[in-house]
Amino acid sequence: MRAAVVVTALAMVLAGCGSTLPAQPVDSSSTVTVPEPPGVAGAPSSSTATKPPDTTCDATASLRPSGPLPPPGQMPEGSTMARIVQRGRLIAGVDQNTYPMGFRNPITGQVEGFDVDMLHAVSAALFGDPDRIQFKAITSADRIPVLQQNQVDIVARTFTIDCARAEQVGFSSVYFSAGQRVLVDVNSPVQDIGGMSGKKVCATKGSTSLDALTKVASHPQLVAVDNWTDCLVLMQQGQVDATSTDDTILAGLAAQDPYTKVVGPRFADEPYGLAVPRTDTDFVRFINAVLEKIRADGTWTADYKHWLGDRLGPVPAPPTPRYLD
Ligand code: GLU
Repeated sequence: MRAAVVVTALAMVLAGCGSTLPAQPVDSSSTVTVPEPPGVAGAPSSSTATKPPDTTCDATASLRPSGPLPPPGQMPEGSTMARIVQRGRLIAGVDQNTYPMGFRNPITGQVEGFDVDMLHAVSAALFGDPDRIQFKAITSADRIPVLQQNQVDIVARTFTIDCARAEQVGFSSVYFSAGQRVLVDVNSPVQDIGGMSGKKVCATKGSTSLDALTKVASHPQLVAVDNWTDCLVLMQQGQVDATSTDDTILAGLAAQDPYTKVVGPRFADEPYGLAVPRTDTDFVRFINAVLEKIRADGTWTADYKHWLGDRLGPVPAPPTPRYLD
């Protein structure tokens, strides 16, 4: 009986049925697939990638505040703000990967950053409480769809104001003036975007960064991902040579990886706005009144110093708001 079991087991192994022996000899010369973040694409997916920048509108001119802010909790009847106060919380689209603008603090689990502080100011004006916020983590490419589908009341996510976007969402006045630069390996000889010819450069899908890269004279090879930290991982794995986006975001990546450095001048202006569904013009005016207040009372400067310090040079004055009417 025992001999029969042994013979059967041996026969299974010889027939390739054993679970521990490979059916085929392993080819030691075969290459291992390098793991990569989900959503990596070789070509820009942005619909505006090949279009020239749209300068047909005065995109950074927003809607003037309609007067002083109403007391918290006492919003005009029928307004977008009254609906939000009635609900009891502000629903906000944010980044949870981008230190120091919008990121999840790994120690506390809280979403924090400069963009998030803008939301605390809006929440304080609505509710008298800076923390009545429900955060929804979104990618660069999610920003317009979540607003158009009314999944959020507001997006605060390194969102550059431009004409194409202003046709689809409502923007506040400019609350931050960023600019696009390049992040490379600390030992790289590359000095600016002009040196990226034939090199692989990473940016997120749905970002103005990716669009701008399609227009630079050095014509780098583009790698598109979902999150900015995916670009850092690809650089660390040697799968791309550089990341190019706003100096705010690059400063945060460089702070997380001392083997990287930011190089070259700004080659695109990136004025940030808080964004809301396009028809919520009353909320745009309200947000602009909140921004007026935090520019004037020192909150903006304190937030800037706290999150960015002198990483981008001397602390600037808050951007001056511009209004259409
Ligand atoms: N500011 C740029 C944009 O709005 C890049 C930032 C980002 O994608 O998060 O597209």
